Amino acid sequence: MDFCLSPKHAARQIEFREFADRELQPAGHTFPRDNLRKMAGRGYMGLPVPREWGGQGEDFFTYILLIEEISRICASTGVILAVHTSVGTFPLLYYGTQAQKERYLPGLARGELLGAFALSEAGAGSDAAALRTSARRIEEGYCINGGKVFITSGGEADLYTVFATLDQSLGSRGICAFLIEKGTPGLTVAPPEKKMGLHGSATTELQFTDLVVGADQLLGEEGKGFALAMSLLDGGRIGIAAQGLGLARASLEATAAYLASRLEKGDQVSQWARFTLADLFSRLEAARLLTYRAALLKEKGQPCSREAAMAKCFATDLAVEAAIRCIDLWPPDEYEGEYPLFRYFCDAKVTQIYEGTNQIQRLVISRDVLKTFHK
Ligand SMILES: Cc1cc2nc3c(=O)[nH]c(=O)nc-3n(C[C@H](O)[C@H](O)[C@H](O)COP(=O)(O)OP(=O)(O)OC[C@H]3O[C@@H](n4cnc5c(N)ncnc54)[C@H](O)[C@@H]3O)c2cc1C
Repeated sequence: MDFCLSPKHAARQIEFREFADRELQPAGHTFPRDNLRKMAGRGYMGLPVPREWGGQGEDFFTYILLIEEISRICASTGVILAVHTSVGTFPLLYYGTQAQKERYLPGLARGELLGAFALSEAGAGSDAAALRTSARRIEEGYCINGGKVFITSGGEADLYTVFATLDQSLGSRGICAFLIEKGTPGLTVAPPEKKMGLHGSATTELQFTDLVVGADQLLGEEGKGFALAMSLLDGGRIGIAAQGLGLARASLEATAAYLASRLEKGDQVSQWARFTLADLFSRLEAARLLTYRAALLKEKGQPCSREAAMAKCFATDLAVEAAIRCIDLWPPDEYEGEYPLFRYFCDAKVTQIYEGTNQIQRLVISRDVLKTFHK
């Protein structure tokens, strides 16, 4: 058993950290095109995509290290990258036809195209199988009608993986996945939602009105779309766990540096502040171990739904708690303006919601635990 990063992973971690510190800016209220362009320049938009498809051919674990470091500086950029990679690019890699891969994968891997994933609907979030967006077979392929909500990179993405049902009475077995390009007639994008955090990441509704796609834009088989979506969940959740790690570190490292600077000036740091730091840094290590272990299991192709859910739940809950408890360790005059701890808190909150809420993660974990103990 070895709890240390391999020399190669450790070197890449340092590279990502230095890149993020030096090159990235927190996004503010603007979509972080500049950050994405710089990441594309380093090959980071296709890090775990095989080289033959224009990527860097790195393992999933290295990608998780990247998400953590990017999210530490800009959580909006972190979620755009995570969605682009784990649910915007992987579906094509795993399920695309040769022609679909040739058409889109190199552009996605090089960051010339941005990917998005459109599953959630009003009334079909946690219960995604209840989606109502319809797909009807027509001579030219399929005609799609309906709408999606809360789509990351809506309006900014070039390619959407969209889920629609051929027959709602079939439940999850009626669902198909389609590749829909930006600008396809019949696709309209609402203005970005006004969120409490992640302001740089556009989150929008999508509307499909008699949108026609060719049969060659069906991803995977008819009726297998829901299984396709579910197969991406573990990887997606580990990515959001890494985002939680990055955010928790942002709060903790800023606060530890601030308290250390007070000591240097000869000020006192209370025992309460020290104990808070001790608790949170210990839990950060625990979150890191959960996340890295889930990533390693995924890398080895082993079942990891329970581990991915634990990592997502624990790391994102910690990101919120670290921000809240660290706020108490700063002086009141820091609570004004663009106070970073406030941004970390607002950005962290949503990580408990997307990629399956933390209540849903607890259901996944407890179901698996009870199954283990059921005689
Ligand atoms: C910023 C942001 C970005 C997003 N990006 C995307 C994206 O790119 N693509 C995409 O498809 N979706 C995206 N989503 C949607 C996200 O995945 C859903 O919001 C999430 O799955 C929850 O669904 P819901 O909002 O419909 O809440 P609901 O499912 O209605 O849940 C409401 C509350 O009830 C709880 N709940 C629901 N069912 C149960 C249950 N069985 N047991 C216990 N509690 C339960 C939930 O935990 C939650 O607290 C995004 C959401 C946000 C906020």
